Amino acid sequence: MIRINENYLKLKASYLFSDIAKRVSAYQEANPEKPIIRLGIGDVTEPLPQACQKAFHAAIDDQGTREAFHGYGPEQGYAFLRDAIAKNDFKDRGADIDASEIFVSDGAKCDSGNIQEIFGDDIRIAVPDPVYPVYVDTNVMAGRTGNNVEGRYEGFVYLDSTPENGYVPEIPSEKVDLVYLCFPNNPTGATATKEQLKAWVDYAKDCGAIILYDAAYVAFIRDASLPQSIYEIEGARDVAIEFRSFSKNAGFTGTRCAYTVVPKSLKAQDASGKEHCVHALWNRRHCTKFNGVSYPVQKAAEAVYSEEGAAEVKALTDFYLENAKIVKAAMQDLGFDCIGGEDSPYIWINAKRPSWDFFDLLLNEAGVVCTPGAGFGTCGEGHIRISAFNSRSKVVEAMERIKAALA
Ligand code: PLP
Repeated sequence: MIRINENYLKLKASYLFSDIAKRVSAYQEANPEKPIIRLGIGDVTEPLPQACQKAFHAAIDDQGTREAFHGYGPEQGYAFLRDAIAKNDFKDRGADIDASEIFVSDGAKCDSGNIQEIFGDDIRIAVPDPVYPVYVDTNVMAGRTGNNVEGRYEGFVYLDSTPENGYVPEIPSEKVDLVYLCFPNNPTGATATKEQLKAWVDYAKDCGAIILYDAAYVAFIRDASLPQSIYEIEGARDVAIEFRSFSKNAGFTGTRCAYTVVPKSLKAQDASGKEHCVHALWNRRHCTKFNGVSYPVQKAAEAVYSEEGAAEVKALTDFYLENAKIVKAAMQDLGFDCIGGEDSPYIWINAKRPSWDFFDLLLNEAGVVCTPGAGFGTCGEGHIRISAFNSRSKVVEAMERIKAALA
C-alpha cells in the first residue's frame, strides 16, 4: 500500500476550535434561551466596501462580453493591481519596492504556509510563541522538526512573547536561518517599533537569515510612529519577505486576495555556497503551482486604493478599532492587564488563571465566546484573545454581560 508523509503524524492535533465548538454547543443545549456572543473568531463581519463592490460587479460584467472577457491572467497578478500596491503601500511610505517584486495571491495563509518550500530541509527556524499556527504546522509537514514534546516541536527556536518582554520577543542568542515575525500580532495584538524591527533586520544580516514578515493586520495601525512595512527599515530589502492581505482591511476573507513581496535583492545560497535570487525561486514556485487570482477579485482589490475605497477601508478599520477600545476598557476596568486593541483588532488578556478556565467562565457566566490563549502555544497559557470583529451592539452587550458576571 502507498505510504503517507509521516511528518503529518507529528502534527499535534489542534483541538482548539473543535473544543471551543463542543463547549459552545453544550452551553447552548443547556441554555437554549440565552443567545451567545462570539468574540473568538478572526473573521470579519462587515460587508465589502462599496468601492470594491462596484468594481467587482463591473468586472463580472466584463467577463460577460467577448470584448472585455479575461481568461488566464499573469500568475503574479495584473499590472493594474501590482502598480497600485507598489505605489500606495510602499513607495508613498518611502519603501523602495517595485511592482515586479509583488506576487498577488489568494491568501496570506497560503503564501506564509507555502514559502518554506523554497528553502532547505535542514535550516534552523525561529517561530514566535504564541503563534499563528500556519508557520509552525507547514514546517512540521515539511519534515523540518522532531516530535511535539509538551507543546513544543523539537528543532524550532521558540521566540517567547510574555508579559515580561511586553509580548514582543527578544532577538535569540543563537543563529537561525529563517525567522517568522507578525506585527500587529495575531494573537497578541502587539506591535513592533522601528527600533525593534531594525534590531531584527540587523540580526538577520549578521546571521545571513531571512525574515518572513506577516503584516496582515497593518491597516489597523494608527500610531504614526510605528512602521507599516518592514521595508521602511533600512537594509530590509536584503533580508525580508513581507505578506499582506486584503482580508482584514477590506473584508476579503470570503473574497480572497493577498500578496507577497519578494525583493529582487534577497539572496540565499545552495550547498556549494553559490548565491541564488530568492525572487526567481518564488516566481518559479508561484507560476508552477498557482494560476492567478480571478480578474473580478483583483479589480475589487484595486478599488481599495481608489479615493472612495481608501476612505471606506479607513472607516471599516476605525469601526473595528472602536469595538477593540470598548473591549479593552471593559477588561481593564475589571482589573485585567491587556495589550493590543489599539493598533490591532485583537485584545490579549492576562487571565491570571488557566486560559480554558477563563474561557469556561466567560461562556458559562456571560455567554461570551473568546479564544483560549493556550491554543496558540505554550506562552499563550494564562491568556485569552478577544477579537473586535463583530457588530457594535454585540460587543457592547458582551462587555456588559462580562462585567455583570465578574463584578
Ligand atoms: N496571517 C495572519 C497573522 C492571520 O491571522 C491570518 C488570518 O487570520 C492570515 C495571515 C490569513 O490571511 P488570508 O485571509 O489572506 O489568508
